[in-house]
Amino acid sequence: MGWQEQLGSVPTSHPASFTRLGDGFLTRLPPEPLSAPHWVATSAACAQVLGLPEDWRNEEALQVLSGNALWEGMQPWASVYSGHQFGVWAGQLGDGRALHLGELVHGGQRWEVQLKGAGRTPYSRRGDGRAVLRSSIREFLCSEAMAALGIPTTRALCITGSPQGVQRETLETAAVVTRVAPSFLRFGHLEHFAHHGQLNELRQLVAHVLSHHAPECREAPVPPVALLEKIARQTAQLMAAWQCVGFCHGVMNTDNMSLLGLTLDYGPFGFLDGFDPGHVCNHSDHQGRYAYVRQPQVAFWNLHALAQALMPLIGGDEEAVAELLGDALEPYRQVFQQEMLRGMRDKLGLRHAEAEDQALIDDWLRLLALHRTDYTIAHRRLSQWPARAEATWAPLRDIFLDRERFDLWALRYRERLAREASDDTERLPRMQAVNPAVVLRNHLAETAIQRAEAGDFTEIERLLKVLQRPYDEPAQASDADFPPDWASRLEVSCSS
Ligand code: AMP
Ligand code: MG
Ligand code: MG
Repeated sequence: MGWQEQLGSVPTSHPASFTRLGDGFLTRLPPEPLSAPHWVATSAACAQVLGLPEDWRNEEALQVLSGNALWEGMQPWASVYSGHQFGVWAGQLGDGRALHLGELVHGGQRWEVQLKGAGRTPYSRRGDGRAVLRSSIREFLCSEAMAALGIPTTRALCITGSPQGVQRETLETAAVVTRVAPSFLRFGHLEHFAHHGQLNELRQLVAHVLSHHAPECREAPVPPVALLEKIARQTAQLMAAWQCVGFCHGVMNTDNMSLLGLTLDYGPFGFLDGFDPGHVCNHSDHQGRYAYVRQPQVAFWNLHALAQALMPLIGGDEEAVAELLGDALEPYRQVFQQEMLRGMRDKLGLRHAEAEDQALIDDWLRLLALHRTDYTIAHRRLSQWPARAEATWAPLRDIFLDRERFDLWALRYRERLAREASDDTERLPRMQAVNPAVVLRNHLAETAIQRAEAGDFTEIERLLKVLQRPYDEPAQASDADFPPDWASRLEVSCSS
C-alpha cells in the first residue's frame, strides 16, 4: 500500500490507533486551506525513515501537506490536552494548530503524521491556528538536527509555505511543518482527564499508552506506576542528552513534555553559545524558570504533575498511593546523574571511571562558565587536542581568558588521560563522534530564515545537510565558528 493510501486508511478499528479511543479524546476536522502553497524544504532522511517513495515530493503531496486536499479516507483530527504552563495550571489547551493526518507503518514502526499550522481547531483558544515561516524553519531544522545528534525527538518531513499573511508582532507569512512521531502524547493529555475527574477516559488513555508505548509495564504489579517510572527514566535520559549538548528547550510546560521522552515542540529553543548555566533562551521567560541549568529540575517537577494525574488510577489509601508514585520517580535523579556523568566522561574522552571524574568535569564546566567560553567549540577543540601536543596547544588554550586557570585544569586532565594510557588515535575520533562541530545556533537559523523570507530556500537545504552530519567538520568553516556579534542581539520569544 502506498503512503497516500496508508494515511487515508487510519483504521479507526486499528488497535494501535489513538483515534480508536473515540470522541472524548479528539475532534475530527479538515485542515483550513492555505493559498498558493509552495515547497520550502524537505528532509530526505525523514522521508527515508517513513519509507516514502522517491517521487513523494509531488504536486499532490504539496496540496495535502499544506492542508488543501485530503487523500481518500483521510479523517484528520486534533486532540485535547491540558497542562501546567510556567508552573501554573493553565486549563484546557490541545492541538490548537496541529492536525493529525493519519498514520504510516514502516519497518515495524508506526508513525503519526501531523500538520503544524494547518488552521484553527476547537482547541485554538484565541490563536489563529497558523505558524509563521520563521518558526517553522526553526522547528524543521532543529527536529532533524536533534535526530542526527542522536537525541530523542519528533521528526520533521517538510515545510510548505504560502504568501498568505499571518499577523504576529509584524505581518509574516504562513507555513506548515509536517511533523512525525510514534506519538505526540504529552504529560498534559493525562493531566487533562485527571483534572476533570474523567477516570474512565484516564484509564483508557493509560491503557493505550501501556499497550503501544510501554507493553513491558503491563505485567507490573501496578502498571500505571511502572509506566510512570519508565517515563521518569526516559525523561532523565533526555535531560542528560540536552544538558550534554547544551540544548535549551525554552518552554518546558507539561503540555510540551512527551510521554515517550522525545524532544517536543520547538519554539524559542536555543543552543548555548558561551557557557552560561543561567542562560534563558526564551525572551518571554522573565523569571528564568526554564534556564539551562534548571531544566533537569523542571522536568522532575513536571514528572510530579504527571504522577499527580495518575493518582486516581491507583487503589489504596492516599498516603500509600503517594508513596508508590514517589518511589516510581525515585530513579529520576540517579538516572540523570549517571547519564550526565557518562555523557560528560564521553565528551572528555575518558574510558574508565575514576572517583575524581565528577570533580574534573565540574571544574571544566566552572572554567567554561568563568568567562563564558563557547560550549560547543571548547568541547570540539578538546576532542582535537592530541595528548602528545604541548600543554599550551593554542587552539584550545587561547579560547580561555584565564590561561593560568586553564593550564591548571589541563594538567589534571592530561594526567588523567595518561592514567588510562589514552591513545590519541583511538580517543580523538571517539571524542569527535560525541562532541558536535555544528549545532543549530540562533544565528545559523536566522540566516536561513532571512534568505527564505526573501524567497531563497537554498540556505535551509544547505544547513540541513550540515546539521545532518553534526560530527563532521563542515565544508563551510563559519558553520562551526563562534557566533558573529549580531547574534547576541537576536531575541527568540514564544511568538511563532
Ligand atoms: P506552546 O506554548 O507553543 O506549547 O502552545 C501552547 C498552546 O497554545 C497549545 O495548545 C497550542 O496548540 C496553542 N497555540 C499556540 N500557538 C497557536 C496558534 N497560533 N493558534 C492556535 N493555537 C495555538
Ligand atoms: Mg506546545
Ligand atoms: Mg509550541
